[in-house]
Amino acid sequence: MKTTRKIEDNQATEAPKNEGNQTNLLIRGIAVSGGVGIGQAVVIERITTDISPRRIIKPEEVSSEIERFTNAVGEAADRLKGIKRGINVDHPLSEHRYIFDTQIMLLHDRMFFDATKKAIAAELQNAEWAISDVITKITAAFDTIEDEYLRERARDIYFVGERVLKILMGVRSETKIHQLPPNSIIVSHDLSPADTVQMAKESVIGFAVDMGGKTSHTAIMARSLKIPAVTGLDRMSSLVQTGDTVIVDGSTGVVIVNPDPDTIFRFRERQEVYRKYHQSLLAFGKLPAVTSDGVRTMRITANIELLDEVEIAISHGSEGIGLFRTEYLFLGRRTAPDEEEQYEAYRHVLARHDPNPVTIRTLDVGGDKISYNLNLAHETNPALGLRAIRLCLSRRDLFKTQLRAILRAAVHGYCRLLLPMISCISEIHLAKEVLEEVKDELAAEGKEFRRDVKLGILVEVPSAVTIADMLAREVDFFSIGTNDLIQYALAIDRVNEHVNYLYDTLHPAVLRLIQQVTNVGQAGGVCVSMCGEMAGDPINIPILLGLGLDELSMNALSIPMVKKLIRSVRMDECLDLTHQVFKMQGAQEIRALMEEWIRTRFPRDYFVGHS
Ligand code: PEP
Ligand code: MG
Repeated sequence: MKTTRKIEDNQATEAPKNEGNQTNLLIRGIAVSGGVGIGQAVVIERITTDISPRRIIKPEEVSSEIERFTNAVGEAADRLKGIKRGINVDHPLSEHRYIFDTQIMLLHDRMFFDATKKAIAAELQNAEWAISDVITKITAAFDTIEDEYLRERARDIYFVGERVLKILMGVRSETKIHQLPPNSIIVSHDLSPADTVQMAKESVIGFAVDMGGKTSHTAIMARSLKIPAVTGLDRMSSLVQTGDTVIVDGSTGVVIVNPDPDTIFRFRERQEVYRKYHQSLLAFGKLPAVTSDGVRTMRITANIELLDEVEIAISHGSEGIGLFRTEYLFLGRRTAPDEEEQYEAYRHVLARHDPNPVTIRTLDVGGDKISYNLNLAHETNPALGLRAIRLCLSRRDLFKTQLRAILRAAVHGYCRLLLPMISCISEIHLAKEVLEEVKDELAAEGKEFRRDVKLGILVEVPSAVTIADMLAREVDFFSIGTNDLIQYALAIDRVNEHVNYLYDTLHPAVLRLIQQVTNVGQAGGVCVSMCGEMAGDPINIPILLGLGLDELSMNALSIPMVKKLIRSVRMDECLDLTHQVFKMQGAQEIRALMEEWIRTRFPRDYFVGHS
């Protein structure tokens, strides 16, 4: 439908490395973050226990298999010692050096070392299989334990086992994501949001990832960080080696491995076109988003994940923050942030945007955002599991700490509180109960805080759309989270590149859901905004104007283009397009109409994004 995944020139099915250094190996994926990056690949190898080779060994192989395992454990210990030596006192992670001592000890822990040897000898499993089984069993057993510290030890054993597995499977050595060389293009099969958070961002100029789609959180982060990125590259990471020159064109979804000088020249030109184009758009960011006939004005706000993005949002013309994904404060670190740290973060964002609103979403971990410091249990189907508000209601300690920090910080600006993944009314009732409890506690402690913070919900589960009239009576605003709403309504895993071709914001069902929430919400007196990625894609804007949304929140870099578009259209043409679209039956048909419209009305903008 939208972008096809394809490996051109090299038709190999076995995914060999690009051993012969074939030049201009072109691979197509999904364009998720615009711009062109030209640099050297840093391949990040991940390994999971489910892909470890499994083989029944012969009884006479037992001793050599145990020796293979023991040698790998020895090598893992040496590598850990080496990493620890490399972290000197000035290193930002120096206070965490003890982690390596713990891991070295765990390598020889009875639960791991002896149990693996026993599985090899008694079950005749090869070493990789034995390790995978042992660490899976340990993790499962520890997951049921209440004590957080013990559960954390299980995760350490998991990492230790993974390290030994890597050695046995010949996976190349450690990539130090904190110390990447300049001009690094990160190439990986999968990249978790936690990995992305930890990267030395100044050194990374591109991402090329096998998995994921446009709304995976890694893609969202790449856009926020202004780093060109292509996902959905299938098995690309197995074709590239660290040090290969790679071009990532995040606007067209193309990756080129080992480009020849002519190709590099061509893409440098393209890089420049892209840069100048963005520079020229910036002026629109400062202007209000009002249609050319003056009929409608929309508030345009930004989505942020990290505190660094506050300034980017302001310089691109955001009129507040429509979505602060606070879970990023929790990712990629060993301990969860306490109330004071959270308070400082929220205070900073609120004060910087005052008097514009800042919408702080309460913790939305789970799904593709895994926070190890919260010791979440493994789930078979995390997108449908103990995620977001469900997790907060089951972990009141966490929820209350966050609410305390938000209510205290709210004194410093205009705060809106947003609850994620509401699927029924009782979740709002329970959340309100906790909120009242927190207010009473803060009042009893004599702390300064705000009582009258506006409360809203993310409408991102189809059931919430269906009962939008009831939900509207409970809250002050709705924010439509299309990333998840589409995932749940169309039954498409948003991080699965194999079904990404079905993920379409212009599917008639999606448009009808948005229409329903907007109409019902506004009739119920609540303000309706949209903060999913759909809100920042120019192709959707005339329809969103036609449907009458009050506010759009998006990646900051999209703001200038969206404002330019809104300022160039008349409301009657938007209503006309919306009527036409609502008569159509398929996403493809609708997309063709909207693309043609953009191509005709904004030829230069269309060209930069698609050439
Ligand atoms: C959404 O689901 O549309 C949304 C804005 O939240 P997230 O992408 O963080 O799930
Ligand atoms: Mg969501």
